[in-house]
Amino acid sequence: MQVPAPFDYERATSVEHALSLLERLGPEARLIAGGHSLLPMMKLRLAAPEHLVDINDLHELDYIREEAGELRIGALARHRELLESELLGRRFPIFHDAERVIADPLVRNRGTIGGALCQADPSEDLSAACAAAHARLVIRGLGGERVVEMADFHRGPYETAVGPSEILAEIRLPLREAAGSAYEKVERRTGDWAVAAAGVCVWMSDGAIADVGVGLAAVGSSAVHCARAEEVLRGERPSEELFDAAADLAAADCSPAADQRGPVEYKRHLAGELTRRALRRAVARALG
Ligand SMILES: Cc1cc2nc3c(=O)[nH]c(=O)nc-3n(C[C@H](O)[C@H](O)[C@H](O)COP(=O)(O)OP(=O)(O)OC[C@H]3O[C@@H](n4cnc5c(N)ncnc54)[C@H](O)[C@@H]3O)c2cc1C
Repeated sequence: MQVPAPFDYERATSVEHALSLLERLGPEARLIAGGHSLLPMMKLRLAAPEHLVDINDLHELDYIREEAGELRIGALARHRELLESELLGRRFPIFHDAERVIADPLVRNRGTIGGALCQADPSEDLSAACAAAHARLVIRGLGGERVVEMADFHRGPYETAVGPSEILAEIRLPLREAAGSAYEKVERRTGDWAVAAAGVCVWMSDGAIADVGVGLAAVGSSAVHCARAEEVLRGERPSEELFDAAADLAAADCSPAADQRGPVEYKRHLAGELTRRALRRAVARALG
């Protein structure tokens, strides 16, 4: 049986309390939310924090609501809550598509969107969905809060813009009319991590794609934001030829690594094909 290295445990009662604990305990302290990524890493001794600050009582971070023209998700919202949210499914069906294929009910009952984004696993699905949705992330510290674009959030595999004494508090998704979105993933078996995955959000105007976001998972060292694919789509009327051009750019711009889930060329092919499929469904949803 794998056992973590010894650690001290503190249970935060508010965001301010969690932040002051992080400040006091220093860089060897780590937040724990659902624990579905951190605990396995601790058991494998890939992580050995001296202090765990448990944030599961911070109900102030557990919500999904519309506010100020945005859909706002608290960092402690669980996968299951995202999957069950009528509001999220209606405004951003990409998140329901993604949540249906993340892990299993056990993981979805406890794992949080904040933990998933902060883990920054390159194969993690919600980062690709957030990249496609042009999410903005609210990071809080004792000195106040700052808002970071999703494109600037990941600093590499398992690294984010969240500092050691900060907390990811909220995910903000811009709400616009005539929106459609979809997520497509290939996994080896139900509940597995992606071999490759693609998420697309489109915002239509007069039959053309006014704006678009394309994000990929598992085909780079962190979630891939496909700027060139977005550029070729923006302002154009949807067509199969246009989707082919965007899919080719998504495939060209990713950098998958060969592993037990498949060779580089297979993953690159999937990145293009899944982008094409997600585009078709996102546009159909926007127009439907
Ligand atoms: C068997 C299994 C299969 C899985 N399959 C998939 C899959 O197919 N797709 C997928 O996307 N994911 C998958 N996951 C990961 C799952 O989604 C986890 O729930 C998620 O990665 C981490 O969320 P958590 O709340 O459990 O985070 P934790 O494990 O509690 O924390 C993860 C990291 O984030 C930090 N952290 C947590 N919350 C915050 C915050 N608010 N602010 C700052 N830092 C924070 C922690 O300090 C830690 O470093 C799987 C996990 C398991 C165990």
